[in-house]
Amino acid sequence: MRQMLKIGVSGVRGVVGESFTPQLASSIAQAFGVYAGRGRIVVGRDTRPSGEMIELAVVAGLQAVGCKPVLVGVAPTPTVLMLTHALDARGGIAITASHNPGPWNALKLINNDGLFLDETRMEEVIDIYHQGDFPLVPEIELLRVDRYEEPMRDHIWRILQVVDADAICQQRFHVAVDCCNGVGAVYSQRFLEEALGCRVTPLFDQPNGLFEREPEPLPRNLEKLKACVKEQGCQIGFAQDPDGDRLAVVDETGRAIGEDLTLALCMDQVLTHHAKGPVVATVSTSKRIDFIARRHGVEVVRTKVGEINVVDAMQRLGAVIGGENNGGVILPAVHACRDSFTAMALLLELLTCSGKSVAQLFEEIPTYCTVKDKVPIKAVQTPRIMRHIRQSYANRPLNLMDGVWVDFGESWVHVRRSNTEPVIRIVSEAPTPEAAQQLAAEFRRRIEEML
Ligand code: MG
Repeated sequence: MRQMLKIGVSGVRGVVGESFTPQLASSIAQAFGVYAGRGRIVVGRDTRPSGEMIELAVVAGLQAVGCKPVLVGVAPTPTVLMLTHALDARGGIAITASHNPGPWNALKLINNDGLFLDETRMEEVIDIYHQGDFPLVPEIELLRVDRYEEPMRDHIWRILQVVDADAICQQRFHVAVDCCNGVGAVYSQRFLEEALGCRVTPLFDQPNGLFEREPEPLPRNLEKLKACVKEQGCQIGFAQDPDGDRLAVVDETGRAIGEDLTLALCMDQVLTHHAKGPVVATVSTSKRIDFIARRHGVEVVRTKVGEINVVDAMQRLGAVIGGENNGGVILPAVHACRDSFTAMALLLELLTCSGKSVAQLFEEIPTYCTVKDKVPIKAVQTPRIMRHIRQSYANRPLNLMDGVWVDFGESWVHVRRSNTEPVIRIVSEAPTPEAAQQLAAEFRRRIEEML
């Protein structure tokens, strides 16, 4: 079956050679160029084999409508966001399907403020795309391509303004980093060695986009990193996703502590040593966040799922840190985007300041277990299912900003329609795996009653 093209708030993505073609990439780039206006557009990509082809198509599209592409080459998505702002560009395009499997690719569109387009702006671009008939410039007005070397220089400089690199360097940490054959394979070892003084054992560090493990940094995909940390006696193991915006952690015993711990630990470090203020996370993020926030006497504000929704709320509230339960950490003092490099620096700073190991820090945070499930549905069934869930749990505290989130005190369940698949997603969290499993099963039954 041909994979459908997905157009949404997180960009335009599909399978290369099926729904995602150079023609499409070029047309979207033209539409984006018309939307952003003539001027510089920063273009970066991850290491996927299709990246070069899509980049060339994007360049042609941008030039055709009078924009000046600034190519930064293979670069982390957070770096592309930062450079769009730093280079005073009209916009940016990150060519990456992030944690999707290798055959996928995508265009993520960036506003001139260095943040992803929100839903309204994305709709405007898609509207221009559907109208077609883009005003093409005559030959005399075509602008040449610029290349920007060393794209991470500014990004690393920003991180070093925020963390205490001297103190971290003195520790001479021994770390393993699993780069997933993505952008980290180009930058992570050097960053950890040169900027943070670590001894580094790299894994999957060929930047060829041929993923040797499943690209999502979930515990089950990190077997090699877990073994490496244990065998080599590393103090911490880091796992990135292919475009370097998410980070998962393995403790010194070789245990993957779960992606949601990345944000909880970074939050603890920021609130202890950087700044006090509100923190923001999606409704689907672990209650561990609430535990950390209570410890520091600050408020947690919840948002809809999606990076731009978290960033919007953070800017409105002046939040000091925010993120998602998938290992996405957003530190606005560096830049308002998810960034695995900032997260690595914060975690090493946490080890430095606390003098504790990752396992010790992990033990201090209450245990919560998460279960994720999904139920296939037809789109038309969604409203009825959501109403049924709402009514079934009307006596519980509910959050209705993104599907239905039901509070059970120490446990919760979040049910929402997926933006990317015809399914209802169920996420439950509870202090024990059995309790989380039971809650997820109960909600699955409720949904199936309505099919
Ligand atoms: Mg990613």
